[in-house]
Amino acid sequence: MQRIIMTAENSVAKALRSVGERIQAASVQRTSTIPSVEPRLVAVSKTKPVSMILEAYQTGQRNFGENYVQELVDKSHDATIREQCTDIRWHYIGHLQSNKVKKLLSSPNLYMVETVDSRKLASELEKHWSKETDRGTLRVFVQVNTSGEANKSGVSPEECSGVVRHLFDNCPSLEFAGLMTIGSFDHSLDDGPNPDFQCLIRCREDVCKECSLDIDKVELSMGMSHDFEHAISVGSTNVRVGSTIFGAREKAKSKSEPPVKNKEEPA
Ligand SMILES: *Cc1c(COP(=O)(O)O)cnc(C)c1O
Repeated sequence: MQRIIMTAENSVAKALRSVGERIQAASVQRTSTIPSVEPRLVAVSKTKPVSMILEAYQTGQRNFGENYVQELVDKSHDATIREQCTDIRWHYIGHLQSNKVKKLLSSPNLYMVETVDSRKLASELEKHWSKETDRGTLRVFVQVNTSGEANKSGVSPEECSGVVRHLFDNCPSLEFAGLMTIGSFDHSLDDGPNPDFQCLIRCREDVCKECSLDIDKVELSMGMSHDFEHAISVGSTNVRVGSTIFGAREKAKSKSEPPVKNKEEPA
């Protein structure tokens, strides 16, 4: 007798597959003027257990994002992750204080710091990373406060090129990889393209002009669970998706934590 054997697919694997398909579909909708860089999916695992990271890694996911220094330090040192996830790439996506830099950089497999928001922070990263001589370059994004909201970190759009210049002139151990924004949470796509994303696109134009860079070489980190497809369609190369992959988070641990959007619940 023949039996159909169903492989039980866990929910993280299912969600990752669906997000992957949506990323694909969104990237083919881009106009030809947008650099055709395949977008990278950063699975934002903050507040979620190591077991879920292992599940995601086993399906082929490699880039993971965390926004608390201590949590990234702990997870990146976890014995099972060290043993089973040798190619994991950690992205730090939270606000970074200069006095936490050294601690953050102790994380194995740290791949990218997405939230450089001052010359001072860049210099502090340079100071400590330059001592890590066998770890290659550390990729960094400059975070831009595109919405101008006081509670958001990031340089102003006007300061952006200056910080990028500083990276090139004074931070040889760091590799400038692009620009990042969180943007305001309450933009409705019914009102047209997200102005924060348009602002980040303009910042990239300025940076490329002022630092003579090729636009294809400067990434844009924008888009989260509720808007990653739109972000990709306008040119994001790096989307940071948490709750759609791992489920809603319990509660915000700090004020830098974006609110959890729950469509089922009235605001
Ligand atoms: C938490 C977080 C995300 C992911 O948010 P979701 O809405 O769960 O996808 C993305 N970027 C940053 C900076 C975050 O802190």
